[in-house]
This record gives sequence, C-alpha cells and structure tokens, in this order.
Amino acid sequence: AKARGRGIYAFYSSDMQHQAQHRLTLRVELDGAMQRNELRAHYQPKLGIADDELVGFEALVRWQHPERGLVPPGSFIPLAESSGQIAAIDRWMLKTAIDQLAQWRRQGRRILPIAVNVSASLFSRSDFVAELTRWLDERKVPGHDLELEITEHVAMFDLDYTLSTLQALKRLGVALSIDDFGTGYSGLAYLRDFPIDTVKIDMSFIQRVHEDEKKQGIVRAIIALADTLGLQTIAEGVETEEELAFLKLQGCWGYQGYLFSPALAADEIERRYLVREVR
Ligand code: C2E
Ligand code: CA
Ligand code: CA
Ligand code: CA
Repeated sequence: AKARGRGIYAFYSSDMQHQAQHRLTLRVELDGAMQRNELRAHYQPKLGIADDELVGFEALVRWQHPERGLVPPGSFIPLAESSGQIAAIDRWMLKTAIDQLAQWRRQGRRILPIAVNVSASLFSRSDFVAELTRWLDERKVPGHDLELEITEHVAMFDLDYTLSTLQALKRLGVALSIDDFGTGYSGLAYLRDFPIDTVKIDMSFIQRVHEDEKKQGIVRAIIALADTLGLQTIAEGVETEEELAFLKLQGCWGYQGYLFSPALAADEIERRYLVREVR
C-alpha cells in the first residue's frame, strides 16, 4: 500500500510539475507574443433587442500564434490573470480600441462605442484613469465612444477607491457595464452606489433559457432589478431565436451572441457594418 501511495504521490507530483512547467512556458510565450505584436482585437456586434439595430461592439482579444493559429482568450487569460500579465494585455487592448475609433473617425465611418474588458488588476492601478485620459486626448477620441466592462470583482477592492475611480471614468464620458452579472458574490448594494449604465446578463443564464424555469426566474429578476435602478440590460451568448424571443418578451434591452455574429476582425466589421457612404 505504501509503495502504491508513493506511486500515486509521484504521479500527482509529476503532473503538478508538468502543469507548472506548462504555465511557465506559456507565461514566457505570452511575453514574447506581446513583444512580437501577435495579439489581435476582434469585435463582436451588440444589438438593441427591439429593432436589431447595431448599438456597439465588444473588443475581445485573440492571440495569433505562429504555429497554433488564432488562440482564443480562454486558454491564456486565466494564466495572465494569475501571472499579472493581464494588466499589460488590457492596456494593449484599450490602446488598440482607441486607435481603432480614431481611425474610423478619420475615415468618416459611423462611430459606435467599443466596449473593452478591464481586469481588476488594471482597474486597481492608481494611474489607470490618468493613463486612459492621456490615450483618449492623444487620439482625440471622446470618452463616450468608449465603454468599459468590469466584473463584480472590482467591487471587492477598497470601496472608496472603486467609487472615485468609477466617478472619474464617468466624468470622461466613458460608459460602464457590469460583466457576467449574476456569477459574482459581492452583494447588490454596489449596483445602487456605483455609477453603472449597463448590466450584462451572464451567458450561463441565457443559453437554453426558454427550456429552464430557474434560468427564466433569474433573468426576469435581473431585468426587474436593472429596470428599478434605471440600468440597461444586455444578454450575452444569445445563440437561438427561442432565447432571443424570451428575452424580448421580458423587456431585455440589448443582446450579443452567435445568433447575430461572433467577434470579427476589424476589416470584416468595416465591410459588413461600417461601409463608408460614397459621395
Ligand atoms: P466575456 O467578456 O464574457 O466575453 C464573452 C465571450 O463569449 C467571448 O468569448 C465571446 O466570443 C463569447 N461569445 C459571444 N457570443 C457567444 C455565443 O453566442 N455563444 C458562446 N458560446 N459564446 C459566445 P472569448 O472571446 O473567448 O472571451 C472569453 C473571455 O475572455 C471573455 O468573456 C473575457 O472574460 C475574457 N477576455 C477576452 N478579451 C479580454 C480582454 O481584452 N481583457 C480581459 N481582461 N479579458 C478578456
Ligand atoms: Ca465582457
Ligand atoms: Ca461577459
Ligand atoms: Ca464571461
């Protein structure tokens, strides 16, 4: 039994070693990716539910890996969060989105706000707002072209810091969303106290919602709460007409999901949605 126990121990330990090695490799690779400019921004359309009007885009990072192709964020964002690299990725994404907005302005295209995901790690940096202000000024992009998606995690920091940071962002004109709403555990008081514009209903409550009474109850409750507080609601991960029909019936304000479009490269977004008018 002892030998077997050791065997199991050896098995787990080499597995852990393997994992640690993998994480280290990925961490080094990710630093290289940023230096070699291998990160890409894709943009997913957001629609108003009442009329299917385009209301904005969400910027989502991808890694254009020389061998592995286009790597989705799920396989490197969690690691980047634990290694601290996420703040650098978010700063890159914010600058990229602001550059994109400036370019669309120069080209005379229709401007719709771009939403960027901001990790707790970037949000907690004391120079975050000053840096963002500078980037907007440099590119002459108005704050209201930009939206930030934050999770409930940021509400778990120092409340005074969080509140004053959010207020400073609002003064810039930046719109604020709570992402993955319903999956955190920070309580609800912050919804009343923070200057939030939009609540994004987490995908896990949306998928097959028309077949699941518990999900229906949760979605209804979130929309009712948001309505009471004067906040907009956006449902994420809408894949079917049935899901959309349910959300419409409940008075959800907007949605995004594969039913309408996945996230696309900027040139594809331009071709499909931001065609310049020929004069
Ligand atoms: P998220 O912010 O909740 O973004 C929504 C995710 O759902 C995106 O996955 C999007 O492509 C995906 N999605 C959209 N519509 C559908 C649908 O109809 N069905 C399904 N199954 N999925 C859909 P993606 O791009 O893989 O991103 C995953 C997560 O990675 C994001 O979740 C976000 O938490 C994180 N992430 C992505 N880009 C960034 C970034 O620049 N900074 C930070 N901090 N996090 C990011
Ligand atoms: Ca998001
Ligand atoms: Ca989300
Ligand atoms: Ca999510």
